[in-house]
Amino acid sequence: MSKVHESPSKGASNRDIQKVTDTAACDSGINPDRDISGIMATAIIMTNSCVPGAHIPSLFLFLWLLVVVQVSASGYKTCPSVHPDMLNVHLVAHTHNDVGWLKTVDQYFYRSENLFDCVINILSSVVKSLWANPTRRFIYVEMAFFSRWWKLQNKEIQKGVQDLVHQGRLEFANGGWVMNDEATTHYGAIVDQMTLGLNFLENTFGKDGRPHVAWHIDPFGHSREQASLFAQMGFDGIFLGRVDYQDKAIRERTRQMEQVWRGSMSLPPPTADLFTSILPNLYEPPAGFCWDIKCFDSPVVDEINNPEYNADIVVAQFLRVVADQARHYRSNNIIMTMGSDFHYENAERWFKNLDTLIQLVNAQQASGSQVHVLYSTPACYLQELNKANLTWSVKEDDFFPYADGPKSFWTGYFSSRPALKRYERLSYNFLQVCNQMEALVGPVANAGPFGAGNSAPLREAMAVLQHHDAVSGTARQLVTDDYARQLAEGWGHCEVLLSNALARLSDFKQKFTFCHRLNVSVCLLSQKLSNFQVLIYNPLGRQVNWILRLPVSEGHFVVLDPNGQTVQSEVVQHPPLVSTTHPPELLFMVSAPPLGFHIYSVTQVSLKNPAADLTKSSPQKPQSSDLVIENEHTRAVFDGQTGILKEIESLDQKLLLRVHQTFFWYNASFISGAYVFEPEDLNPLPKSFSPETHLVKTALVQEVHQKFSDWCSQVVRLYPGQRHLELEWTVGPIPLDDVGKEIISRFATVLKTGGRFYTDSNGREILERRRDYRPTWNLNQTEPVAGNYYPVNSRIYITDGNMQLTVLTDRSQGGSSLRDGSLELMVHRRLSTDDKKGLQEPLMEMGPNRKGLTVRGRHLVLLDKTQNAAASHRLLAEREVLAPQVVLAPSEGSFSHSSGSPRRKVFSGLRRELPPAVRLLTLALWGPRKLLLRLEHQFAVGEGNLSLPVTLDLRDLFSTFTITHLQETTLAANQPRDRVSRLQWTTTKDGNQGPALHTPTSSLDSAAITLQPMEIRTFLASVRWKRFPHVWSAPLKADAPSPTGWANRCLSILLLLL
Ligand SMILES: [Zn+2]
Repeated sequence: MSKVHESPSKGASNRDIQKVTDTAACDSGINPDRDISGIMATAIIMTNSCVPGAHIPSLFLFLWLLVVVQVSASGYKTCPSVHPDMLNVHLVAHTHNDVGWLKTVDQYFYRSENLFDCVINILSSVVKSLWANPTRRFIYVEMAFFSRWWKLQNKEIQKGVQDLVHQGRLEFANGGWVMNDEATTHYGAIVDQMTLGLNFLENTFGKDGRPHVAWHIDPFGHSREQASLFAQMGFDGIFLGRVDYQDKAIRERTRQMEQVWRGSMSLPPPTADLFTSILPNLYEPPAGFCWDIKCFDSPVVDEINNPEYNADIVVAQFLRVVADQARHYRSNNIIMTMGSDFHYENAERWFKNLDTLIQLVNAQQASGSQVHVLYSTPACYLQELNKANLTWSVKEDDFFPYADGPKSFWTGYFSSRPALKRYERLSYNFLQVCNQMEALVGPVANAGPFGAGNSAPLREAMAVLQHHDAVSGTARQLVTDDYARQLAEGWGHCEVLLSNALARLSDFKQKFTFCHRLNVSVCLLSQKLSNFQVLIYNPLGRQVNWILRLPVSEGHFVVLDPNGQTVQSEVVQHPPLVSTTHPPELLFMVSAPPLGFHIYSVTQVSLKNPAADLTKSSPQKPQSSDLVIENEHTRAVFDGQTGILKEIESLDQKLLLRVHQTFFWYNASFISGAYVFEPEDLNPLPKSFSPETHLVKTALVQEVHQKFSDWCSQVVRLYPGQRHLELEWTVGPIPLDDVGKEIISRFATVLKTGGRFYTDSNGREILERRRDYRPTWNLNQTEPVAGNYYPVNSRIYITDGNMQLTVLTDRSQGGSSLRDGSLELMVHRRLSTDDKKGLQEPLMEMGPNRKGLTVRGRHLVLLDKTQNAAASHRLLAEREVLAPQVVLAPSEGSFSHSSGSPRRKVFSGLRRELPPAVRLLTLALWGPRKLLLRLEHQFAVGEGNLSLPVTLDLRDLFSTFTITHLQETTLAANQPRDRVSRLQWTTTKDGNQGPALHTPTSSLDSAAITLQPMEIRTFLASVRWKRFPHVWSAPLKADAPSPTGWANRCLSILLLLL
């Protein structure tokens, strides 16, 4: 998107220019299968006759050019030559194609109501124009669009495009499925979407199509983890469009527009170092040089007798722009972006003017001009910078938050559309489960008793969701709905896959049910049936134990574990504080082995059991005494008078902290919108917020229910054995009695934090934040609230050096610490105004009942000694993002081992647990008999004992397949790691850098794979699946109920009968 133009002289934004009529129809009527001559016919229609000197090359010319263009190797070798003694101006022709924003992905791809923004036509038009002139170059970025366009072309056109790619004239930058957002994305999902795009390129164009640079010209701020990931994917550099206006002004003045960005404090340099170039003008052309059909700038007319002649003026103006830009950069090369949002639908118009400009400016050299203009690409520009052999400064922080003016901090989108953000995170979780099942079971998962299962639709939908207007919450409502639709469709295909795989593994042929609304206690199967099976699949490399909650009908239940042992269970009736229609919930303790499942049987029994109803409630306020919930690890105290949390105690660590937690809202100003957060007042409302409370204490859970208002409530919860306090908040519909409200949950403590707090970067490394401060420039703080907000992808914490309060989130949110000892997270926002950044739609979120969206989520709170805190929050964050999958199925008969029961109730895909430091980041099918495997060290340097290097033996780690060959690749799996050679840069910190990636091990030993702190290692594994599934569960030996299991069952029946 192109929301704001930095230069006021640019006039109306591109979005407003929709009345040009002299272009081709952009509609779905163009036959994508047309042949070359068909394309020629279209070219004739699409050429703008107002372009001076425009003419249509004949088909002969096309073919001739294809023959005469010198075929050379791809990559840097195809770069155009520059004039070493001149100032070289690299013109980069590009189009920015949002994968959904104001229109859906399909609307952008196929058609447009206003004859603009049709990606099919953009790509077809660009390709024709490249064929027409061998000096022209173009870059393309979004594989979500390109791959679709590619599949629609015939072989002849595909061959012609392959030639362009081979010649380096069509170059791919970034090459991910989308240009992902950096604030609200989880690193796992970023890696997945880049892998999808880069491997489409690798499979289609080989190394010719491999991008050398990342191109993140539109995301609204930039994360350090993104730089680290790109470096590990083998990129040589990144180009950025949006950096804070104050930061940029200082950089221009001090010529720091380019430097080396150090993406990790754990990985040894230059593993995570990435050369970073900030573009001069977002990603727009300089003012006066926009020659798209969407723009109003005059074309270049160089016919001397023509009354429209303007060549002299254009050249003079261009040279002024060049001189001005060159003052801010350090080498004798500068880069100019020639394109913008959905430009080049009539590519010939753009290119013809650029052809003329280049010719006219370079002709000035005969008169002594020292400026040389050329068609180039970001990679070719980067290569020239590299050759300049300069010493570059090093950046170690990130580019958040982003502001484009004193009252314009783009920190609202950290929290915008919280339901979509949660659905995206949940879908990441489900995709990993789907991937693992497909990998563990092999092709059986794709074709089984439940039909054709497929992980690809969810993988693609998740990749689309990473786009910088998708999970960011900054697309229009109809586009947001379409994103959710894509995810839901992807889930459907994965559910079939999972059903096939689980049927195979459990030898159970009943239809599996996936209850999607467990978060609001709705599941038809468990509420209607009196006898069903519950399968718990655990995607982690370690066993998990926790309490499962299922909505049920009234009555009493017996739950048996896979061994037939009775599991402690109870039915809890929700207090009628917020909803009177809440169903009773069955709670029972479950566990699941690593990368595997346990199956539990649930049976309703008709007898009254006086011990079953355990809900205890206290009278509502006013209370005379404090409310307390506690287990063996943690104790939480609520003020008896106010009902508000006032104290958390860690019993293990003997820590006590006064914590006052409640909800507030900022009244929005007219400037707040989907992107921008701009509160009316610095202090949120209300001053005091005293909830009604209700206490629930049973054997399996202790809860304090708090009702703050009709639209804001919370349950604070402790389960046995759980170290963290769980705060489940429910907010909405937010009343719209003013401009808007931005709701926060705030934790106030007495910790002395010195203005410092800590947030994660894309769910991975941690960055220190300081109030009213930026590490690399002297901030003039103009927004004490919004200007201190940072993205919280998974956690935020404060510490006084001794005690640490960490809050983990279940989705991305904005967060801050506006006072010492305090931290806050924005959970929901609803606004009646638009922030004028291009969306042109208020963030109203009406929800399914059209009264406003209600959102439910969880904050997990940990109190630790600072030195031990990482072990707690890292492992809890891993469990949160890779939560177990609950699958239900009806069963026949009650306790008999009938055909209605699964034969195998225990399965583990791992023969042994992974060490705590190791996360299985990816296990996915990669091809016939090939898997993609990513192992990650999830601790940073200095995070205690778990930060030590870990060595794994992969040879017999997995139970369902044997690894026959292992190849290590870059992070996105598109090239062998030992063949990667990145450009080296000399920095002020370390001198000359190199080699660019980790030194590859000479020979890969699958018996000893070592992971250093924060290292991710990616492998392509050739595998052979084992034939007999019964051996897969051998390590845990629980195929059939043991004799004691049967005895226990009989005993439990007897007890119930008594
Ligand atoms: Zn964009």
